[in-house]
Amino acid sequence: MAPFVSTALPEGRPKKIERPPWHGTCLYQHETSPWFEESLRLATENRRKVAVPPGHTAKSLEEALLDLANILGQEWVKLNDVPLIDGDYHAVPLSHDSYHILDPGDFVASAVCWPANTEEVSKTVVWANKWKVPIWPLSIGRNLGYGGSAPRVRGSVVLDLGRRMNKVLNVDVENAVCLIEPGVQYVTLYEYLQSIGVGNDLWIDVPDLPGGSVMGNALDRGVGYTPYGDHWAHHIGMEVVTPTGEIIRTGMGSMEGSECWQLFRYGFGPHQDGIFTQSNFGIVTKMGMELLPNPGGVRVFMAAFPKYADLHEAIEVIRPLMIRKVIGNVPMVRLGLQDASLYKTRDDFELDERGVVKPESAQKVIEELNTGAWVFYAALYGPDEVTLAKYQYIQEQFHRRIPNTKFYQREDVPENHYLHNYARFTTGIPTWRELDRMKWIPNAAHLFFAPLSANNGKDAGRQANMFRARMEEYGFNYLGTFFIGTRAMHHVISFMYNRKDVAEKKKALACIRALIADAASIGVGEYRTHLALQDQVAKTYNWNNGAIMKFNEQLKDALDPNGILQPGRSGIWPKDYRGKGFELWGGEERSNLVENQDGLNLTLTP
Ligand code: ADP
Repeated sequence: MAPFVSTALPEGRPKKIERPPWHGTCLYQHETSPWFEESLRLATENRRKVAVPPGHTAKSLEEALLDLANILGQEWVKLNDVPLIDGDYHAVPLSHDSYHILDPGDFVASAVCWPANTEEVSKTVVWANKWKVPIWPLSIGRNLGYGGSAPRVRGSVVLDLGRRMNKVLNVDVENAVCLIEPGVQYVTLYEYLQSIGVGNDLWIDVPDLPGGSVMGNALDRGVGYTPYGDHWAHHIGMEVVTPTGEIIRTGMGSMEGSECWQLFRYGFGPHQDGIFTQSNFGIVTKMGMELLPNPGGVRVFMAAFPKYADLHEAIEVIRPLMIRKVIGNVPMVRLGLQDASLYKTRDDFELDERGVVKPESAQKVIEELNTGAWVFYAALYGPDEVTLAKYQYIQEQFHRRIPNTKFYQREDVPENHYLHNYARFTTGIPTWRELDRMKWIPNAAHLFFAPLSANNGKDAGRQANMFRARMEEYGFNYLGTFFIGTRAMHHVISFMYNRKDVAEKKKALACIRALIADAASIGVGEYRTHLALQDQVAKTYNWNNGAIMKFNEQLKDALDPNGILQPGRSGIWPKDYRGKGFELWGGEERSNLVENQDGLNLTLTP
């Protein structure tokens, strides 16, 4: 492999990625965290009552949890009676969704347990069937904007797989693949490859923030920035515990003695892997991931388009560049204001009476920052001569249709410019820079509204206009980014709200529900959504009277007859839950059955 010759990262690849000592997921805050004292105070003054799952009393739950403690060992089962402290990205609570849009106590676990290996996961599943307790597996539990570590059904027991099942089990350097457990984070996989001396040759794909689980994100079909940015497309082979506790391996892993588990995606007969993504059909305990061989160079650039109306032409230029693989990564086009939110807070702008940034104020800041109404970030891979030729060709293509497009490479922008950060992302180096966005408003939390768009100017333009108008009507700024795939785009809109302001949360919820309906009215569906919205989104996938949900329910009933695994995930409810008031279609103030469950005190005594 040629040495790393790119202009993109002359500073090289760090061995370690700095993070605060409290970086992790926890029930109680780590003692170095800024929330430790508050968490301790609330824990002593105000012990929370434990949420009890449907069909249980405090007594029967206690008996069940004692049985689980016998199976896993007492220290590996903890009651969730801790205060609901939201923490921050580095200190994610396992107790609830730190980006709650309902009451934080709505989607809350009764207990958390920490299985040590696949066999213990299987035993926990058998236990859940015996006691009919709903369970909710997590790999890391960050998943912010989509539900965090919260279970959908209040009182479920969370299986935190990340704490003890966090090993890189194998790296096959020649074939550029690895085998990982659920708790392997992007940042730990990166550091692991560095530690065994292959970090320069084998790259990973990192999403916006690297604290999440490589497996968890792929299972939720998340995206990143390199040529391997479609994470699910680059998984290869899985080990899964089924809802009745059997252990299976998919693809070539289903054959005793095969050496191709991480080399050939399919096996013989039906290919099952997809049914374990965004679903409640199994718990994944091992997964293979392809690693990106060092391509011998990366050139990153930014193009800025001066007018809001340029979006249409910009996407029209980009589409053939993607289909013909002139651009090989997952590039993005984002709104200038979204770009500016990395450097500015909302208070730096003039707002109208609804709280929306005035267009002339946005324009002023955009000019000051030397960006555009929309900006395009992309990376070209290969030796410098190759990427230079491609870069020139791409510039020509844009200049033909949007003559005023401005282009920038790293040497053209100041030190704090996002382009330097983008160079890290696209070479698979973790960074926490995106956290800067959380300064936009006080107590910021975000929801992602994430519809899919065809990779064409017409669809992108009508979505941006439609969603922007609706969000502004509710007093929110439209902060949109298109992550561009070969033929379709993830239109990810970060929907910022103040999580301590109950009225604002209600408004955010009402607005996002309206957006989902708006999108469905023009045949646009979301690729992923927050827990509270999954019933509504699932219902918009309605071809042939919702035939797909009927099929999902058949699978659910066959695979999980007791309905214990993640009831309600992606709108798929087990038969005993369906139509009993668990679904959230909109208009509800709280989640299901909360009133019946409140007021129960529970102590887990050995
Ligand atoms: P991350 O921390 O990477 O964002 P999470 O651990 O929060 O990801 O998981 C995201 C979603 O995927 C959650 O709904 C979770 O229940 C599901 N999930 C995560 N890991 C697994 C797994 N190993 N098996 C089955 N589902 C999983």
